[in-house]
Order: sequence, then C-alpha cells, then structure tokens
Amino acid sequence: MNPTVRRFLVTVALTLFPAAALAALSEPDESAPRYEAILKVDAHSHVFEDHPDLHALFRRINFRTVNVCVNVSDDHFERMHEIAFDLYRQHPALYPFESTFDLRQRDAADYTKNVIAWLGRTFARGAVGVKIWKDVGLVIKRPDGSFALPDDPLWDPIYAYVAQQGKVLHAHLGEPREAWLPLDQDSPHYNYYSRRSEYHFYGKPEYPSHAAIIAARDRIMEKHPTLVVLGAHLGSLEYDLEMIARRLDQYPNFYVEVSARIKDLARHRSDKVRAFMIKYQDRILYGLDAGWQPYLGRQGPTDAQRKAHLNMLELRYHADYDYFAGKGELTYDHRKVEALNLPRHVLEKFYRRNAIKLFKLDAAGQGEK
Ligand SMILES: [Zn+2]
Repeated sequence: MNPTVRRFLVTVALTLFPAAALAALSEPDESAPRYEAILKVDAHSHVFEDHPDLHALFRRINFRTVNVCVNVSDDHFERMHEIAFDLYRQHPALYPFESTFDLRQRDAADYTKNVIAWLGRTFARGAVGVKIWKDVGLVIKRPDGSFALPDDPLWDPIYAYVAQQGKVLHAHLGEPREAWLPLDQDSPHYNYYSRRSEYHFYGKPEYPSHAAIIAARDRIMEKHPTLVVLGAHLGSLEYDLEMIARRLDQYPNFYVEVSARIKDLARHRSDKVRAFMIKYQDRILYGLDAGWQPYLGRQGPTDAQRKAHLNMLELRYHADYDYFAGKGELTYDHRKVEALNLPRHVLEKFYRRNAIKLFKLDAAGQGEK
C-alpha cells in the first residue's frame, strides 16, 4: 500500500476505532515493495565487461551482483580475475566478486601452498568468496585415475584457509539429479543436457553418482564446520525441498542460492515452496547465473548483442521478482504457477540481507575494502 494512503487510513481508523487501529499500526507492513524500490543482490552472476550500459542497468533496476570467477576455461583464468579485480576497483558498489583457484597444477608438491597464497592475494584485492565448480567430482582425476571428489583430502588445507579467512565457499558441486536420468523433454534442463552430453551421465557408470557427489559435499561441512558453504543452484537438490531442508537443519553454516533452478522451484507446489522459504528465510539467497563474458570470444560483442543481453537480463530479473513477490496466478517458464507472495521481510532477506551478511557487504551491497 502507498505510505500516504496507509497513513491517511490509519488516521481515519484511529478516530473511529482507536484500539483496533493502534494494533494495526504496530504490525509491520508486509506488502511487497515495487521491484525497483528494493535494493537487490544477485548472488551468482558472471559480468565480465566494464561497459557503462551494464552499470546503468544495474543502477536503474537497483541490483548489485556478486561476480563469480569460475575456471570453466583454464586458458582465461588470469584474464578473468583481472577483469573482476578491475570491475570491483572501478565500481565497488556494483560488482563484489569471488575468486577461484587453479586445478591444473594439482599434482605438484606445493600445490595447496600456492593456491592458498593465490587466494590470499585475491582476498587482499577484495574477493568476498571462492567458487568451486562441478568439475571437482565429475571431471578432475587423481593420479591413480579415480575421480577427485569434493571431499578429497587434497582440498582440505584450501577449505581450512577459506574458513579461517571468513570467506564463503560458493559450491556448485554436482548437477541437477536428472543429469543422471534419461533425457526428458519436459524437464527444465532438457536443452542443456541435449547439447552438453559431456555432463549427461545417464548410462555412464564410470562417473560418480549424484548421491556420491552430494555426500562428498556434505562431508566437507562435517570436516570444516566453521566453513560457510553457499550451495549454488539449490545445492544440486532442486528435486526435493525436504532434502535441502534436512541439510540446512544439519549444517548451520550451509546456505543455498536459487540461481538457474527457479524453474525447478516453480515445479513444486507453491504453498510448499512458500513455506520452505519462510521457514529457512535466513538461509536462501537470490541469484540468476547469467553470463556475460565477451573476453572469451575472439572479438568484442556488438552493441546489438549487448543490448539483447541487457534486455534478457532485465526481463528475467523482473519475471523472477514477479514469481517471488507477486500475488495470484502467473506464467513462469511457459507454465501457470501461483506466485509466492513472500512477506516483505522474507523478500528482503532473500534479495539482499542474507547476501550482505554472508559476503560481509555494506548496507549498500558494497564489498569490504
Ligand atoms: Zn554460474
């Protein structure tokens, strides 16, 4: 409700029914704020270009992003970090960032020592967390040819260091469960797995199972109870809210973000999702996981490509907000769903406060200097 109208109604009510109106006054206003009116943090994005149109969009729609470095293509490891450092230095309020670490030298004797020194340098330059990606568990192998799982002792000194430095381990470990199931045209991930067969493990028993990866991720939290782990993509447990809830109950430093899994969330019953988000309101963060990495291409993007990307970004951010904050039936991912109509205080935690707390941002969403 518009604050002026609210004040007017309260004044009228105070005159007519003083006791009831006083009670209403003491209740916080839980109606959702306008989309632009609330400062929002996207806890998972890959924005790797210093361009005024990008900054203008984020300012206009009142978004900050946690810019995630991820070693998808090792050749660009240094370049990617340099861009993240620079963006943060130029626009600290818009682009707090997470670093990541090298996986190529993992068989070298001083590997973990070097990784720790590297991470220390990224923290000194402002990194608020460290990303670990699904290749740990599903691609990277030990010298004996077996898969190096996320809880392999090799990574323990790194996790201990991240915990000791009070930084977040942002963990995209595993994949949606259906990466291990036959392709299903009705699934939100059909496009991805029909194109990326290297990450589709159905009928490939040589790969660790979904359950094995999740169990290894959980053992990291058992071994390092002070480490804050932010499970990307609903902690790869998008198919079962109960499974997520159980881990949130069991591991007090476990958090999840919803990026790239809101379509999965929207397939669950809205009343269940709403209750889940209210119950775990201090533990769930918003994220989109959009990628804008023109440095990976041979030539820079055209203005038209950048404009199309920005339009897509704005539409998706807005559609997500309508799902979480809106009321009544809406179309999300071409399906009719009931909007979650989250109370304002839950929305503010989901969209900002939890990210500020976890990444130690200031109230304006800005990273520590
Ligand atoms: Zn990502």
